[in-house]
Amino acid sequence: MQAKAAVLRGSGADLEVQTVTVDDPGPGQVRVKLEACGLCHTDLSVMQSVLPRSDAMVLGHEGAGVVESVGDGVTSLAPGDHVIMTTTAFCGRCLQCIEGMYAQCERMPLNMGGNFPFHFDGIDLMPFASIGGLCEYTVVAENTAIKIPDDIPLVSASLLGCGVITGVGAAINTAEVRPGTTCAIWGCGGVGLSVLQGCRIAGASTLISIDANPAKLEYAKQLGATHVVDASREDALEQVMAITGGRGADYTFEAIGVGACMEQAYMAARRGGTATIVGVGRFDDTFSLSAGLVAITEKTIKGSFCGQGASVRDFPRMLDWYRQGKLELDSLVTTTYDIEDVAQAYEDMEAGKNARGVVVF
Ligand SMILES: [Zn+2]
Ligand SMILES: [Zn+2]
Repeated sequence: MQAKAAVLRGSGADLEVQTVTVDDPGPGQVRVKLEACGLCHTDLSVMQSVLPRSDAMVLGHEGAGVVESVGDGVTSLAPGDHVIMTTTAFCGRCLQCIEGMYAQCERMPLNMGGNFPFHFDGIDLMPFASIGGLCEYTVVAENTAIKIPDDIPLVSASLLGCGVITGVGAAINTAEVRPGTTCAIWGCGGVGLSVLQGCRIAGASTLISIDANPAKLEYAKQLGATHVVDASREDALEQVMAITGGRGADYTFEAIGVGACMEQAYMAARRGGTATIVGVGRFDDTFSLSAGLVAITEKTIKGSFCGQGASVRDFPRMLDWYRQGKLELDSLVTTTYDIEDVAQAYEDMEAGKNARGVVVF
């Protein structure tokens, strides 16, 4: 079938909206009619070659929609099922999966390599993150599409696919935030705001959000931040130390992807506290730690990829929190776009205009 898609071709070319051919689902695959695809900063990093970029790909990885058809051997999904695509489909059999590190599944890179369901102008296009959500239809492995109840609005649900599970998962799965604690979060984009919500759901009582964009700090206040720090005017480390009476926060999070902010987050954790790194920065960006302080202060530094999420466990519980009013999703969607306007949507992202922009099909 034919479908409109956001296509990247060549090493430096701009994003184009093209009509591509989408394959029928093969064995073990499903074809999904996308209803919504959230726009994540990782797409922009790929476009700008900050992260590795393929010469021929369909962008987008925060997708939700309805199963349109299924291939041979598919047993868990049927046409009409509502689904969220997961960025961390896992095999459940490798050493990392057996240890519960689903986001580190050793077979995930293989999943990412072999599937080229889109074709345009004589070339096969790779779906970004095995999803390719910025297309009216995509073909994914059965374990990449997670069934959800029909009454959940798919535009809001799409955010779970990457930003929300990454942020909420960092607080709940990685840091294991305890009630009554103090959390400081660098970044108020879709991920940072989701870390904030995860900390609140876990029962943290002091929630400090930090961003250099004052408009984003307003989102943080609406989502439960007890303190905000405008890093364009104030030193974030000094402010967190002042708010915590000089002790530092029990948990700190970096959700931007900048080495200097990661260093601040480490320094702002209290003695024995935990700094969780969520942001993915440039591979050549670094930060340094005092060789004297690491042992003496007994801080823990943790990496958290995709919130250490196991989507089959985490999507249902996050949707329960959404239903109970604990996890806000609807208001995170600050602008919706037509696929034709996807380039503008990424310009708005760069300008810091949205908590989350979403392409609605
Ligand atoms: Zn993402
Ligand atoms: Zn595995």
